[in-house]
Amino acid sequence: MSDLVIHNARVFCGVDEEVLDNGTVWVSNGLIKYAGSSTDVPEIDSGVERYDAEGKFVMPGMTESHVHLSYNNAHPQQLNNQPLPIAMLDAVDNARVLLGSGFTSAISFGSAQGLDIPLRDAINAGRVPGPRLAASDRDLGSTGSNADGASGGDMAKKIIADGPWAIRKAVRSLAKKRCDIVKIFLDGEAISAYAPPGVLTYSDEEVEAAVSEAHIRGMRIVSHSRSAESVKQAVRHGVDIIGHANYLDDEAVAMLEAERHRIFVGPGIAWEIALLDKGAQLGLPREDMERLGYQREIDETISSVKRLRESKVRVLIGGDYGLNITPHGTNAKDLEYFVDLFGMSDAEALLCATRDGGAAANTEGMVGTLEEGKYADLVVVDGDPTIDVRVLQDHDNIVGVMKNGVMHCGLMQSNPYVSPFSQ
Ligand SMILES: [Zn+2]
Repeated sequence: MSDLVIHNARVFCGVDEEVLDNGTVWVSNGLIKYAGSSTDVPEIDSGVERYDAEGKFVMPGMTESHVHLSYNNAHPQQLNNQPLPIAMLDAVDNARVLLGSGFTSAISFGSAQGLDIPLRDAINAGRVPGPRLAASDRDLGSTGSNADGASGGDMAKKIIADGPWAIRKAVRSLAKKRCDIVKIFLDGEAISAYAPPGVLTYSDEEVEAAVSEAHIRGMRIVSHSRSAESVKQAVRHGVDIIGHANYLDDEAVAMLEAERHRIFVGPGIAWEIALLDKGAQLGLPREDMERLGYQREIDETISSVKRLRESKVRVLIGGDYGLNITPHGTNAKDLEYFVDLFGMSDAEALLCATRDGGAAANTEGMVGTLEEGKYADLVVVDGDPTIDVRVLQDHDNIVGVMKNGVMHCGLMQSNPYVSPFSQ
């Protein structure tokens, strides 16, 4: 793998909010050799390939912290309905689109039919383009949990396990499949008839079994926890990344703050906003969704994230893209929510997407910032997201996405390979 020097760039290293007006990034053997001011670059051999960024913005690749590559841009109540061969093709497409949107890492929060593992392996082998994927498998939940469909659990899509030993067996089966992540449901969803937020769907013994077994096997565990009680249960038993955390009380905030060195929270608010805005087209009118509590949930999330920021708990972008109202590839919309709803500056939202997401995605600290020795995962952007994060939503502004030192361009074209024989 040869070296590449990107010069004449505006460089956002992602360590803090600073943007270097005249910056250089030197990539060597898939790693960052230098990222910083052009005036301090070590001497570059004359043979090294150079790319003149012409003043474009260079930033670390982003992390989608709560991805479902098995989602097929369908109605929220009709997800994962496609047969396995089609689902796999969709997932391959979704991975390419996510990378093309500037996301070089992703943390799976569950994949129906276990699509993630072969997909991760194919991405790592260079067979298909996609982000570095911390892969999970099917969701783990109890009977009558949000993982359990109204007609009973479809085991191709979920794992329903009750009792510590059944849960340990389920987690061991995920280790056998070589998962990186175990996704567990600790409470429910307002739209669910029998498992609303606030009803704990696992007991403490069951959560303890799931977390300890996952950790023994070298996997991390992520939870769906909307209520303060389920967040506390997750923190108490050592869950690594908490999804949603919409409703927090003083005790929950204090517990998260005490564990902020190791724990991450991803509000995953996009689909709820989209549900209220566009639900009418889906037969889910706003009045009905408000009656179920979704507006209140958004309001609570806004005040919860404010408290998490004050407590310096790391908050991650992303979550539940891949519905018809939140299609894959629109994931950068989350940064806009972080600015508009949570009151962050554009640069702060960008740090959530890069530095903090990277810390969650790769526990060895190899992604999320442009620093010497880290993986060369970066995005070349036409525009300045520290002034307006919305520039990241327009794929035309994503000039190139580098992962592991390899620059990908044209990923958003569904068929980027044109045979010379077809002309
Ligand atoms: Zn999710």
